[in-house]
This record gives sequence, structure tokens and C-alpha cells, in this order.
Amino acid sequence: MTVENASQAEDGVTLYEGADLITLDRERPIIRNGSIAVRESHIIAVGPTAELARVHGAAASRVNWSGHIVMPGLVDGHSHLFQSLGRTLGDGLSLLPWLEKFMLPLAASVRSEDALAIVRLAALSSLLNGTTSIVDNHYAPVDAETVVALAKEMSGIGVRGVVARGIFGPMVEGGRRMNCDPRLFRHSTAEEISITLDCISAIPAGQLVEIWPMPENIVYVDPELIIGCAEIAEKHDIGWQAHCSESKFEVEIFEQIHGVRPAIWMEKAGVLSERASFAHGIWFDDAEVEALGGTGAHVVHNPVCNQYLASGIIRLGPLLDAGANVALGSDGVAVGGVSIFEAMKSGLLLQRIRELNPLATSAELMLDLATRRGGRLMRRDLGRLTTGSLADFVALDLSSPIHQPTTRLATAVVMAGSPTVKDVVVNGEMVVKSGKSTRVDQDKVVADGLQATRELIKRADLTSLLTDWVLPSFRS
Ligand SMILES: [Zn+2]
Repeated sequence: MTVENASQAEDGVTLYEGADLITLDRERPIIRNGSIAVRESHIIAVGPTAELARVHGAAASRVNWSGHIVMPGLVDGHSHLFQSLGRTLGDGLSLLPWLEKFMLPLAASVRSEDALAIVRLAALSSLLNGTTSIVDNHYAPVDAETVVALAKEMSGIGVRGVVARGIFGPMVEGGRRMNCDPRLFRHSTAEEISITLDCISAIPAGQLVEIWPMPENIVYVDPELIIGCAEIAEKHDIGWQAHCSESKFEVEIFEQIHGVRPAIWMEKAGVLSERASFAHGIWFDDAEVEALGGTGAHVVHNPVCNQYLASGIIRLGPLLDAGANVALGSDGVAVGGVSIFEAMKSGLLLQRIRELNPLATSAELMLDLATRRGGRLMRRDLGRLTTGSLADFVALDLSSPIHQPTTRLATAVVMAGSPTVKDVVVNGEMVVKSGKSTRVDQDKVVADGLQATRELIKRADLTSLLTDWVLPSFRS
């Protein structure tokens, strides 16, 4: 890559030139040998290299990306960056014991400084994986000071996103039936609302990293609090998110308590809208799919996590047909990894095996979920390489023999699983250059994250999970 200064510079314009572009624009989805012109935080033109060179050839900076594939930055619609503290530890547990014996005790022991150190590392890891936007559900710890500091930490790394403040509220019947750790249910409904509002007034909507309310789970959060979170989102022009219908048993628990399934309850409570997004959404039945679709609500599909915890496979086609928006998420590194490239490949393969039909998904659809539809979830104009969109995009290097030939670009990128991410631009700034952060000292970020991890494992008494090798339970 070379950056040259033109003699008569066009003020503040950067021209990224010569790449093959996957635009996610229906009018011209692929531009071979194309360029992108950027001014400040937005794309001001996209088109063939020769054409943009004529118009913007005097750009203040010119970046030569020939030989690269450039696409919109990926959106991770649901993650838990702080869970990187438990990376590799909960493997081999199903969802309920995973929560009971591992994640909830870990979460109850995380200190503010641990969260800041690990979020820095996890957000950097996401950026280096080509993810430019993250909805981070943070639920440990959730005081206003920590939540606001985390949003600033993510901005400092250079990633766009949301800190979705985890809200448990008072312990309710659903939490008791799911054996949730009572230490996480430490605030009253009024306190949760008040702390969330404090966070939003410190960082109002429209910043690089916003703050949203996140009632943790429709099953174990006080219904009044769920309604309160939807009202906050409406009033402050932001979104809200919750976990919903990840496992069969939680839907059964909800039905036993409320007499209806979760999405039907939410429809009746008037909280479904295009501001609402639900992580997982695997077990929605036909009536729930219609309710979600009719209100334009979002579902975040986390295919790697859903396989890792063997939770089930989302009904992707019916949700999209009904009008729901579906984005992709990682659900964090403790359930398989933060790479949305891996999520695209997994999501593509999972639907094909679910439907026993190789036409059930396509690389193009998975790219759409990971970019444009993620942008819709984020409520931002991003996820496409088009004039007027936010300038969030990534340059991939697939020139290695590992990836060649790349004849069909969309399939080449999705099936690569882990393409080499070379440069990453967020909000018009190159925050990763040649695979390294331009903002932070990566070695220090890793060292600080490891230190926080070692201390937390001791403090949360998770040493029983430190098994080096688990023998397979099959005949040798
Ligand atoms: Zn989650």
C-alpha cells in the first residue's frame, strides 16, 4: 500500500483506489477495479478507478489498494466483549451449566478495571477480524461509571458500536427457575432505569459508541423493566436488545409463568418495534415470527455460538420472509470466537443442513446479513459502499495460495472463513493498517488483558475449569 500526496490537494478527501469492491449496493454489487472517495466520516463517491481518478485525482491522500478485495466493515450485532476473560474455559458445558458454573460466577466477580482491560483486547481482536461495529452486551459490572468508560474505551480503539448495558433488575420467578446467580440481581427496577438514564445522558445518541438498555433475558427480567427499557429507547431515539428464545427450556419456563410465548407477550405489551433486537431467536414459532416481522423487529443470529452450545438452528427464511431484519453476531469469544467471517460461513452451512437444501442460503445473503442488515440494526447508514454511507470498510488480501483463485468474490470471501484482513477504515479513519492497530500498543493491550484474566480466574474460583485435556468418552 502506498499513500501519495497530490500537488494540488482536494481538501480532506482520501481516495482508496484500485480494489475489487463488494458494495452490497443492489444497483451494482460488484465493481472490479473500483475506488472509494471519502471526506471526513462519509463516502462521497464510489465507482470505477479511472472515473474517480478523473473527478477526485487531486485528493489530499491516495491509498493504492490494487490486488485487494474491499467490502463494508462487518457488524457484530451481539457480543459480550468482557467474556473474553473466560476464553476457552466453559468448553464442554451445555447452556444451563455453562451459565450456572461458569459465566454467571465469572460475571459476578469482574471488577471495573478487569472489564476495561479485556474490552480493549476483545474490541481490538474484533477490529483485526474486520468487524467495524459491535453491539456489546456488557453486564459485569454495570455501574454508570464503568459503562461510560467502556464506551470511551471502544471509541479509543477506533471501533463503532453500542454498549448495551446489561439489566437484571430484581430477582423474579423466571430467574429462580433458571437458577440464575442472585448476585447479578442487585438493583431494583427503578435503580436500573435511573443508572441507564445516567449513562445515556453522559453519552447521548449519535456518538461513535452509543449506550442502549439491555434487559438481559425476556425470561428472567421483570416485565415492567422490559417495558421501561423499550420506553427509554423510544424517548432517546436509540435501540434496545434482549436475549430471547435461545434454548427450548427457557421458552417453556416463560410459557409456564406467563401462559404465552415470549414474542407474543411482547407484542401484547407493545414493546416490539424496529428499535427492538433479540439475540438468538431460535425457537420462535410461526405466530411469533409473524409478530416480529410485522413490527420490523430485529433478530441477531449467532451461528457459531448456537453450535458451540448446541442450542438449535434459527429459522432464517421464515423470519426474513415475514419482514423481520436478521443480522449476524458472535455472542463473544467464550462461545466460539468474535469473527463475523466465521459467522457468515457457519450461518450459510447451518441453514443448508437445516433445510437439507443447498439453495437455502447464499454467500450474498450472508454478506448482506453481516453488513447492510447489521447497519439497519445499528440504526446507522452503514454496511454498503455507496455515496452518503458512513465510511466503514475493510481491505482483504486474498492473494495467498491459500485463497486463490477467487473467481466469484462473494463466495471466495464467505467460504474463506478467515480471510486476511489488511486495512480497516472506521468513520473515515484507517484504524488498522497492514494488520496492526494505528491507535494502540497491541502488545500492551494483550499483556493487560492476560493479567486481568489470571487474577479473575483466582478471584472467581474458576480453577476447577482449568483442565488441560479432557479425554473423549468414547472407546479408545
Ligand atoms: Zn449473548
